[in-house]
Amino acid sequence: MTGAAPNQPIPLLAQPVSVLSGVGPERAKQLARLEIRTIEDLLLHRPRRYEDRRQLRPIAQLQFGEPVTTRGSVAALGVKWYRKHTKSIFELILDDGTARLHCRWWNLPFMEKYFAVGDEVIVFGKPVGLKPRTMDHPETEVVEPGEEDVIHFNRLTPVYPLTEGLPQRWLRALVWQTLARFEGQISEPWPELRLAGAPLNLPSRAQAMRMLHFPETVTDTESARRRLALDEFIELQRQIRHRRQSFETRARALPCRGDNHLIKPFLARLGFRLTDAQTKVLRELRRDLSGPHPMRRLLQGDVGSGKTVVAACCALMALESGYQVALMAPTEVLAEQHFGNLTNWLEPLGVAVELRTGSRKTGEVQSPKSKVQSRGSGTGSQAPASCIQQRATLTIGTHALIEAGFAPENLGLVIIDEQHKFGVAQREQLVRKGHYPHLLVMTATPIPRTLGLTVYGELDVSVIDALPPGRGHIHTFVRGAEKLPQVWAFIRQRLVEGRQAYVVYPRVEEAGPNGVKAVTKEFENLQRTLAPYRVGLLHGRLRPNEKEEVMDAFRAGDVKVLLATSLIEVGVDVANATIMLVENAELFGLAQLHQLRGRIGRGAHDSYCILMAAAKSKEARTRLRVLEETTDGFRIAEADLKLRGPGELLGQQQSGMPKFRFGDLAADLELIQQARQLAAQLQDRAVAAR
Ligand code: ADP
Ligand code: MG
Repeated sequence: MTGAAPNQPIPLLAQPVSVLSGVGPERAKQLARLEIRTIEDLLLHRPRRYEDRRQLRPIAQLQFGEPVTTRGSVAALGVKWYRKHTKSIFELILDDGTARLHCRWWNLPFMEKYFAVGDEVIVFGKPVGLKPRTMDHPETEVVEPGEEDVIHFNRLTPVYPLTEGLPQRWLRALVWQTLARFEGQISEPWPELRLAGAPLNLPSRAQAMRMLHFPETVTDTESARRRLALDEFIELQRQIRHRRQSFETRARALPCRGDNHLIKPFLARLGFRLTDAQTKVLRELRRDLSGPHPMRRLLQGDVGSGKTVVAACCALMALESGYQVALMAPTEVLAEQHFGNLTNWLEPLGVAVELRTGSRKTGEVQSPKSKVQSRGSGTGSQAPASCIQQRATLTIGTHALIEAGFAPENLGLVIIDEQHKFGVAQREQLVRKGHYPHLLVMTATPIPRTLGLTVYGELDVSVIDALPPGRGHIHTFVRGAEKLPQVWAFIRQRLVEGRQAYVVYPRVEEAGPNGVKAVTKEFENLQRTLAPYRVGLLHGRLRPNEKEEVMDAFRAGDVKVLLATSLIEVGVDVANATIMLVENAELFGLAQLHQLRGRIGRGAHDSYCILMAAAKSKEARTRLRVLEETTDGFRIAEADLKLRGPGELLGQQQSGMPKFRFGDLAADLELIQQARQLAAQLQDRAVAAR
């Protein structure tokens, strides 16, 4: 150890593990595979579980099916081969004086060489039989003579994630020695915050690291986790604050508050009144658009809560101020739909609306299909086109907007719909088309608070927390595949009554091994079953003009049933469609199903969401019941976060998702809120100290 000043211990812990005795190049390579490169990494290597080795259970007292740690000496061992020497069982028989335990491993014949008769072995496993007592594939650890009991036995013993060639005991001993040697060097990262002890009642970071590896009690492990998680959250909040601050010192806002000359007539001819929830959000947006820093805001609103009209108002504020606006949507279908609606809404006001998608040529000004209906708005026949300068435009598109050809002169506002479908990088690419334009990102996936404060920590959040009035009730049912005939009869009845239906399949192509139905094949069946009602087919492999044709026919009511992949998950708005049938619903996340369900219940008629689950998966059905129980998007998102983790909830494209060793986004809201306050305190102190 050289070079580091005594009161700067962090660099010590930042040294590579190779400085530790016993860690040669081979071991260092193995540790690196576990992402352990520095001493600190090693001390933060989180045990997978703990074994209570203080009172090992005698073999005679093992219970069927109950996971347990026990110990015995090897009485016999051997490999049996069968099926012409292609399959094997390795068996190890342990005896502790009370009884014998048979441990079996299939097709791992080389295990024989790890054990010898007379070895003392600790095993952890679940008895699968008691006559004789048997465990299959238990975890084992051979007790080396002369080993320190205090590290490996007679205690709550950590069991670590390993990698090939790295022995559990060796790693445990390494952690033990490293702690002994460096414990005094583990300092508080932010001493001024006084995290240890009262009032937060947390251990110091040094104590936490010891408790993590060698706890005295079971509750120690959770105290340690909480302390180390808090450190992670504080660090993240510091970074968020720092980035936000440096953004605000760099970026001056474009004045986009508008003067109401477009919004007033827009609202007057809209055909409905904004809800209080929408009005409240608009007030927040206007404040941002007239503030000193560019807006960076996330607008959350459950499916059908009316985000589009709010986005339109926001666009009008920027347009009124003489700036251009870009709106990016994740699919062509959705971009087309926005284009239809917004053209109907805004062209009568003299605003030029453009569409740019992969299939529509750049810069080409489209006139909307007259078929595209915008509920409540007028037909747009007498456009007072003179009242606004022509260059004030709204450009709507897909990711095609990111491409080089799109170069708005005077971009004041970027709006991103269904933002979880885009990565942060794509969002920033579009923002960079202007000089610090305002940014509004919208999502219908309700974001649990924990994610709002971490993954989206750099954005301010607005929530539309109520649906427009007059919506029909949505009934949700989970059904097994055996009920399909009744389900179709029910759907046919709704078609007779004049309603329309979505039918969603998880895949486009031919069936996978699990009997996933193929949408293309199903299309033919469905056409036969539902004749004379017309069925349309929509999936990602269609050409854009084909997609558009199908959607137009569905909107117009010519096509009664739309068979689709989850393509229609986002944004599609057809009020007369009151049925959503999802096949193999167990393959979707809850939040995604909630989105799909959001396609219905948009008119006054009652709607029905029917989730078909493959007969086998009982567990999946239980999960799906959450949707039967609630239509509250937040509850559903929380459930999804707990069941499937943040990656699934936010979509795979979300790069920059913080990784935590100890923090748990599904459970640590309180810690995250604390970290946020503490990070603010740190910043205040830093300012005061200047
Ligand atoms: P989402 O928030 O899912 O994007 P949309 O913006 O597509 O929802 O709105 C759903 C439907 O509700 C649209 O047809 C829209 O015109 C309608 N709508 C929006 N706001 C209101 C309101 N205040 N009153 C009545 N209908 C509304
Ligand atoms: Mg929408």
